[in-house]
Amino acid sequence: MGLIRLLQLALLGVLIWFGVRAVRRWMNNKRQAQIQAGQRPSSEQVMDVMVQDPQCGTYLPRRDAVRAWVKGQEQFFCSKACRDACLAGKEPSKQDQRV
Ligand SMILES: [Zn+2]
Repeated sequence: MGLIRLLQLALLGVLIWFGVRAVRRWMNNKRQAQIQAGQRPSSEQVMDVMVQDPQCGTYLPRRDAVRAWVKGQEQFFCSKACRDACLAGKEPSKQDQRV
């Protein structure tokens, strides 16, 4: 009598274990489906670095900047006009010092 009772308990335990496993797997599937359907981790929304235009002093996101190499350094400009002006050797917004 005691042995049968023990077997019943063991069987019940196994059934519960399978049940819990099934529920867990189902929940995992649901979560993965949500991840795939919706918001993937947004690598595109990484904060962009702000750079300063050495020509006019404007700050702008680096990805929007016009790049140029000036004297061995990569510089970022707000526009091609600023880049060209800097490459042409114009001093950035210096006051007119003609005598
Ligand atoms: Zn500029």
